[in-house]
Amino acid sequence: RSFEEAGLHPVVLQNIKLCGYTETTPIQAYTIPAVLQGMDVVAVAQTGSGKTAGYMIPVISKLMGKAKKLTAAKPNMSQPGYNPRYSKVVAEPLVVIVVPTRELAMQIWDEARRMCYRSMLRPCVVYGGLPMPITRDELGKGCDILIATPGRLCDLMGKPDILTMRRVKYTIIDEADEMLQSDWEEELRTIMAGGDTNEDADHVYMMYSATFPKGARDMARQYMADDYIRVR
Ligand code: AMP
Repeated sequence: RSFEEAGLHPVVLQNIKLCGYTETTPIQAYTIPAVLQGMDVVAVAQTGSGKTAGYMIPVISKLMGKAKKLTAAKPNMSQPGYNPRYSKVVAEPLVVIVVPTRELAMQIWDEARRMCYRSMLRPCVVYGGLPMPITRDELGKGCDILIATPGRLCDLMGKPDILTMRRVKYTIIDEADEMLQSDWEEELRTIMAGGDTNEDADHVYMMYSATFPKGARDMARQYMADDYIRVR
């Protein structure tokens, strides 16, 4: 299938072209329309299937469509002593993507940056082991799409001067089985339960995994809409 027929934002379509993608991969053919319609998605997917672009493309397209309504947090420039170099804002991401490793986080960040090209959206990446001052600095520059490992994200959720989850509308759990195996279930649940959970928020959840152990099935049942789309 071609990307043109999916009804994507023109800037995203351009970025897809710049990446050299001409046709959707099979997983993208299912997940892109589902996310554009606001459905939750559970997908059995391996690395190499194009799963990352499969969630990045529709989510970013949706955010770009709403760009006028997004009023990104800005530092108060009229405040006495304001200095742009040291000013910090509390990060208010709209999207969080949770992954098991730093390497995967960096790869996903690359894809996010390519899809956000020529937009106002800023992707950020943080992971365990990244020194806290650098983490704080990265998030303090503003963050629309946050890519993070589960432990670091949970730490940050306890620091309201750095991060708030109150605007998160898309929660994406990538390689869920890997994280469950590494005993991150409690953290994943905290993250899934965080974010904007107002009735009318239309919070979208997506979960990707190579296998679906009981823990992953339980989380999907608990946090996702009953009519979530299953892709395999
Ligand atoms: P992933 O499965 O997300 O790790 O993606 C594997 C590789 O496929 C990445 O290098 C992507 O840049 C690439 N890719 C993703 N979608 C497409 C597509 N529609 N056409 C060609 N390459 C793609």
